[in-house]
Amino acid sequence: MSSPPSLTADPSSTRGRGRWSRRNIAMWSVVAALGLVMAYLAYFWTERLMIDKLRVTGAQRLDAYVVSLENLLGKYDFLPRTLELNKDVVALLEHPDDPALRRGVNEYLEQVNKQARSTTIYIVNLRGVTQAASNFREKSSFVGDNVSFRPYIRDALLHTPGGFYGVGTTSREPGYFFAHGIYKDGRLLGVATVKVNIEKLEKTWEPGNDKVMLTDKHGVIFLTSEPEWKYRTLERLSDAALRELGATQQYYSYPLTPLDIAYERVLDEHARIISIRDESGGRRASPRMLSQTNSLAPRHWQFIYLSDLGPARANAQAGFGFACLLQGFFVMLFLYLRQRQRSVRQRLRAKEDLQNAYDNLEIMVAERTYSLNQVTSNLREEVEVRRQAENKLRITQNELFQAGKMAVLGQMSAGITHELNQPLTALRTMSDNAVILLERGRLDDVKGNLGMISQIVGRMGTITGQLKGFARKSVDTPVPVPVAAAIANALFLVERRMELERVNFRMNNRYNEASALCDSNRLEQVLVNLFNNALDAMAESELRQLTVTIEQLQAGGEQRVRILVADSGPGIPAEVRPHLFEPFYTTKPQGQGLGLGLAISEQIVVGFGGILRAESAPGGGAQFAIELKSDRAGA
Ligand code: ADP
Repeated sequence: MSSPPSLTADPSSTRGRGRWSRRNIAMWSVVAALGLVMAYLAYFWTERLMIDKLRVTGAQRLDAYVVSLENLLGKYDFLPRTLELNKDVVALLEHPDDPALRRGVNEYLEQVNKQARSTTIYIVNLRGVTQAASNFREKSSFVGDNVSFRPYIRDALLHTPGGFYGVGTTSREPGYFFAHGIYKDGRLLGVATVKVNIEKLEKTWEPGNDKVMLTDKHGVIFLTSEPEWKYRTLERLSDAALRELGATQQYYSYPLTPLDIAYERVLDEHARIISIRDESGGRRASPRMLSQTNSLAPRHWQFIYLSDLGPARANAQAGFGFACLLQGFFVMLFLYLRQRQRSVRQRLRAKEDLQNAYDNLEIMVAERTYSLNQVTSNLREEVEVRRQAENKLRITQNELFQAGKMAVLGQMSAGITHELNQPLTALRTMSDNAVILLERGRLDDVKGNLGMISQIVGRMGTITGQLKGFARKSVDTPVPVPVAAAIANALFLVERRMELERVNFRMNNRYNEASALCDSNRLEQVLVNLFNNALDAMAESELRQLTVTIEQLQAGGEQRVRILVADSGPGIPAEVRPHLFEPFYTTKPQGQGLGLGLAISEQIVVGFGGILRAESAPGGGAQFAIELKSDRAGA
């Protein structure tokens, strides 16, 4: 028979769960690496997008700044040229020693300066000495100053219109200088110069994270939204540049030290990513910035617009975080789906196991049923064998009872023979006498004799009838038996012996009508046995008293009849008592006892659901009690 299947999950299926197998580690490492790569890609992609956006805005702003600068400068470009239109200006250059003329020109310049909203306007002769100036009233008046070293003066004297940004040598104020030659009939007389303050442009530049600067051809920052960067340079100046700047005093005596700029990445010709170290606050690196350049070609200037890359970086970091989150979500989704798939698989396996178990159970049940059927049929056979044995036993028992009865009859045969011999002798004598009386003609006496013969024959018939009744075979089925009648029948068989042995008999039949459920023949057999035993026991006794008592009692919820047979014999010795009902146990001499009487009697009584017990008689002898079920109707 197959062993019952296990309902627990296969241990091999759970092997490796809960601990990291090498395959798992490799797989998750690859996933983590891929995740990291994707997150960084997201970071760079977002940053790139943001930078592109910043470049567009930066370029627009830069264009706007350039236009506003060009507009501002363009407004003043014509002004120096118009001065030669004034006759006094030309006259002053021709007659510099005329104080009235000088005064008139000074006042004229003052007025024009005021109207044009320029910083200063002044006229220089061919030697570079200022002849008249709009600030003639001020202490820091340019009148009399020699400015021939200024490049714009030099350029103008060489017939090239000059333009120059620089810090004023007298006023120390920065400004843009426009210079143009003053001609009369094609002859150069001097130079007209207009100085314009373009620092006001700085004020229009929005303060904020974005920064602006304007640099000259040397890379000197002369206009910027960051005050600390003013007059700093983009790179270290060459000696030649320093010499040139020193000679022109373009930036007065500012040290022109380079800014600490780190160029991180070049995006194209005009755009790159830089960071400028903040020196005032120590070593802190400035945030990364997008630097966009626009060249102002004729002046060799560069407009630089710096956009803060902080928000771009923040966005990139957000992109990185979002990518991580997204991947985390997908990993969780994957784990969840895998777990679900696993549990579905487990459930299916459990179902399969259950089905297997069920199938096996069915096989087991079929096998058990088969073996049970085998056992049942064996049992049935055994029961049949036992039933047959019981039948045989019953038959044997009946035969035994019968044999016991025959044995009793055999023992009583001497008495019976004597009982029958006496009437037979009497019959012979009487029949002989009847013949003689008939020959003598004494018919009355013959008649009397024949009457007596008839009586004797009748008595003999009764005896043989009793014997025949006693000897007949009994039936097993219990029927109500009147107890007194059974006692009387049994007594009849031992009556003669009791007479001979002068046994006194007493009947205590208080319940004369009592009936017991049994067979009359069997009950008589038991009683005859008990009477004979009592007579045997009292053979040596002086007082021979046989007493029979009928009692009725209630036991175990049912009516019972008790028949007590007591004698005045010596009683039952203690050593005999345990063996009383054993077959073939006898204390009587050989030929007198078989030792079967009590054994058979007990079997008969028990067969009817009764009890046979030996007790001590009240008078000192032995007493046997037969207890049988009572027939209620007869009770
Ligand atoms: P048997 O009469 O052939 O000996 P029983 O089975 O009838 O066989 O009796 C067994 C023995 O029980 C007797 O031999 C006798 O010793 C004892 N016994 C039976 N009845 C009495 C009695 N009334 N008084 C004393 N002893 C008895």
